[in-house]
Amino acid sequence: MISQVAENVWKLDADSNVYFLNFDKKIIIDTGRRSNRNLLEKYLPKVVDFSNIEIVIFTHLHYDHIGNFDLFSNAKFYASKQEIEDFKENRNNTVLDENIVDIFNVELTKLPENIEGLEVIETPGHTRGSICLWYEKDKILFTGDTIFRNKRITGRTDLPTSSPDEIRESIMKLLDYNFKIICPGHDY
Ligand SMILES: [Zn+2]
Repeated sequence: MISQVAENVWKLDADSNVYFLNFDKKIIIDTGRRSNRNLLEKYLPKVVDFSNIEIVIFTHLHYDHIGNFDLFSNAKFYASKQEIEDFKENRNNTVLDENIVDIFNVELTKLPENIEGLEVIETPGHTRGSICLWYEKDKILFTGDTIFRNKRITGRTDLPTSSPDEIRESIMKLLDYNFKIICPGHDY
């Protein structure tokens, strides 16, 4: 189902969550698992047309966050510089699903430090190129797989492009933000 998190922020609950931001430009944060495509098709059109999405931001490029990229045919796709480099170097290790690698044919643009009022926070750990996004107005932190709602739980750091030595520092960095709401990649 889809629920409103803040005035212009929506959350599609799935195994891997998808967020819709109704800003001046319409933004999607992560696109979920391919196997949850039916959920996106059922619920997202209640709040936005796929064709009106101009920006898709990936917190990282694991298969369960990029799986439905192709629903957003008019969007520009963003990931961190590090994540894009890792993807170019070793697609399978960066995506972790060969079937998704085979179809993932988008042009990735390097994230700027700020995008449409969202601050991009580099949080290496779960993957070297993982990022979180800070929405100051409503004090919302989009955390991907870096931390989950229970702040003591963090994403795995034993995957091929993980950086276990850096996760602690990344979490400390996040705790400096006075967030009211965490919007994680999974509801753990
Ligand atoms: Zn992940």
